[in-house]
Parts: sequence; structure tokens; C-alpha cells
Amino acid sequence: MNRIVGVKNYGFDWYTDYGLNEASAATAIVRHGLDWVVVQNQLDPIPTSAVAQRPPGQGYSDRRLRDEMRARGLRTFEATSVFFQPSVYASRPDLRPVDANGFVMEQYGWYVGLCPSSPAYLAERAALIEEVAGELQSDGLFLSFIRFPGFWEMWMPDTPRSSILEYCFCERCLARFQQETGHSLPDGPTKMRSAILQHELRDEWTRWKCGVIAGVIATLKGAMRRAVPDADVLINGLGFSRNDYDNAVAEVLGQDVEALSAVAEHLELMLYDQISRREGPQWVAESTRAARARTSMTVLASLQTKADYLDPMYASGRRRTTLTAEDHEACLKAVLESPADGIMVYRWLDYLESEVRGDGRLLSALRSFKDGTIGAR
Ligand SMILES: [Zn+2]
Repeated sequence: MNRIVGVKNYGFDWYTDYGLNEASAATAIVRHGLDWVVVQNQLDPIPTSAVAQRPPGQGYSDRRLRDEMRARGLRTFEATSVFFQPSVYASRPDLRPVDANGFVMEQYGWYVGLCPSSPAYLAERAALIEEVAGELQSDGLFLSFIRFPGFWEMWMPDTPRSSILEYCFCERCLARFQQETGHSLPDGPTKMRSAILQHELRDEWTRWKCGVIAGVIATLKGAMRRAVPDADVLINGLGFSRNDYDNAVAEVLGQDVEALSAVAEHLELMLYDQISRREGPQWVAESTRAARARTSMTVLASLQTKADYLDPMYASGRRRTTLTAEDHEACLKAVLESPADGIMVYRWLDYLESEVRGDGRLLSALRSFKDGTIGAR
């Protein structure tokens, strides 16, 4: 089976630092054996997270890059960061998530989420996506941060569920929940009302949260399709399964694979084994099998290419400090043996670096995945 090879092309270093232009970048991407490319655009920029990004400057054109990639048979997905927008968090208090004790979420590291229940914010995002799709005519939409808030990068194997904060218990979320489910909560402090949602009404509350996220996806997909009628949607999903943290992916983050299946075509599972301190090949096998049993969406194993979260503030994660080409190859091999339809790799620049400035081993692992010879040498 020919697996899909997708990659995230975030940042503009390929342009500003490696001296490629839109055409030569597209040629390199084809040379590297890739099929799908997640791209960012300047109308709806991806906020800076852990990776600083220099803008490309004069001469660069988002549209030209898409055209060059399409001309070479590549499939492009426009990335949009739905509920991670620090500038929106800063300027709009009604979008700040509230925890079970009534406290407003505060930034941790680079991350701070947004409350996902605002119809006004959703309408703004939809309008922006329609504009981007009209301008750039990409083949699909990549929805990142499409979830209730949670910094899953700090969910380690020994993290207890009780230490994972749940959102959002703001007045709008509680009002919408009551209105849309018919359950009524007594008046009182947030702590008392959230306790009912997290205990007596746990299943209803989870179902409502997952429905909010699925509804957002449907709205954003509709906006994209007004400009590109056959566009499809790729979801930025989690590698954790139902058994992890007592189903926190659905209960805390509001992502339910079955609910996602009704509104999206493709799902990437973030299996960042060094970040999440997991045994890579085993995690790939287990997570893709669990997802496959629940959905007919395209399932992509999302892999990391470099070690990350090594700053002192993340030291409690006790992560290993290296990720070698051999580690990457072992995960790629596990994908070939798994029911996944392919991979989505963060990030393309690392392969380019491997080819141009490194020993080429990372790229060679990717190529042997593509041609199915991985592990045979
Ligand atoms: Zn809220």
C-alpha cells in the first residue's frame, strides 16, 4: 500500500535562510517524496509558538507557492490556528477560558487557549477562512488547536488526571450547555456548578463539549467550501487514546473521534514520542490501531523530527534530549506495519536541513518509508 506522506511547512526559513523560492521549494518537496503539504499563509498567520518565525519579506507570494506545488501534483492544506491566538486572548476578556474553580486561564510557556463557544468569534474565523480560501484556492483546510484548552505537551505517562485542568466553565459555556441540553444548573459559584458537570452530568457535559468542537469544524469547513467546493478537512488530533488519563481527550479537550468523523475527512494523531515521553514505535502501533477501530477517516501518524521542550521550565517532563535519524526511522517503520494511511511530519525544514547541511540520514529514512524499503537494509 502506498502511504500518504504529509509534511508541515511552517516558517519561512526555506525562503529567508536556504535561498529557495516558491518554485524551487515545490521542486524540493517533490524530490523529498511528499504528497500533502500543510502550509501557513500571511492573511491568517500561525501565532508564534515554541518556534520563532521570521516573515519572508518582499517578493514572496503565498499564492505562487500554492500554484507551484499544485502544478507538481502536491495537495495543499491551509493551516489555521483556531483556538490559539494570544493576541485575541489579550484583547478580548470574553474569550478567556475559565477553569473549574472560576479562575481565568493564564499563559504557560508559549501556550494559552481560547474559549471555543463564542458564536461571534467563530463567525470571524469563518469569514477569514473563506477569504483565505478564495485568495489561495488550497485543496483543503488544516484545523490546528481545534479543541477546548489544554497543554497536552505536559501530559506525561505519570501525570495523574487530577492534575490536568479542565476548561471551559465561563458563563457563556454554562449558559449554552443549559440551553442546548435542557439541563439546568443551580445558581451559585463556578466551583459548585462545575462539580455537577464533572460528576453527575459528566457524560452530558463531555458530549456537549465534543459537539461544540464538531460544530466549529462544520462551520469552518462550510466557509472553506464556499470558495473551494470540494475542499476537505484535516484535523490536528491527539495521539492519546480513550484509556489515557480517563479519556481526557474527549472530556477535557472535547475531541471525540466519532464526532470528528461526521464532519472531517482526515485525522492526524500527534505521536510526538520524545515530547510525550513515550516509546515511539509501540505508541504508533497502539494509537493508530485504536483510531482505526473508531473511524473511516484517513488516519495519519504525526511524527516529530527533532527533540523539543528542553528548556528548563519544562524540566519536570524528564524528556530525553535527543531524537536521532534512527529513532525517526523506527517510528516510520512502525507506521508501515500499522493500519495508518500515512504520516504527517513536523517539519519539512528538518528534511531540507538534513539534505543541504546535514548527513542526509533523516531524509533517507523518509524516502525509504515512501518506497516501502524501510528496515530492509
Ligand atoms: Zn467558555
